[in-house]
Amino acid sequence: MRDDLLLVVDMQNDFVTRGGALYFQSAEDVKSVVLDCVSSHIENDQHVIFTQDWHSSDDVEFKLFTPHCVANTAGAELFKGLKELVWNYRYAYFIRKRKFSAFYGTDLDEILKHLAPKRVEVCGVATNICVMYTVEELRNREYDVVLYENGVASYDNSLHQFAISQMKNVLGAKLEKWR
Ligand SMILES: [Zn+2]
Repeated sequence: MRDDLLLVVDMQNDFVTRGGALYFQSAEDVKSVVLDCVSSHIENDQHVIFTQDWHSSDDVEFKLFTPHCVANTAGAELFKGLKELVWNYRYAYFIRKRKFSAFYGTDLDEILKHLAPKRVEVCGVATNICVMYTVEELRNREYDVVLYENGVASYDNSLHQFAISQMKNVLGAKLEKWR
């Protein structure tokens, strides 16, 4: 049952919980999909990797974006239902990252080499930023990628659609619907 691995990108309060620094409405649609998807992987004892945007309070990214996901703040926590679901799951990994790609400056490359999944399933936010730049890096390393189209969202629908098209047609990710 371990051949597949689920990668959940940045399902953190500042993006997906009302009142969060960079909250956007369409994030609501993916929360139940992510919860169901993660629950199913937990039932099957599959590895699940959670990425978290994790910034210092004066990060250079804040020249472009409103400050968000500052280390050790509530905004950087996984959203409530997800946090409760995974806090004691033994096959969970947590990747804290400073940049859009979950590979940059993290242990993700080594973890994936160690786990050697046949394919990596991906969900989370935002489709056109951290999801896409992480999927690109997965494809550079020739992992098969399944992108759950109903499990990703962005603050901008046209960028969301563009990114889905890029990931499918340029990066070669396979699009599927979760359930
Ligand atoms: Zn960020």
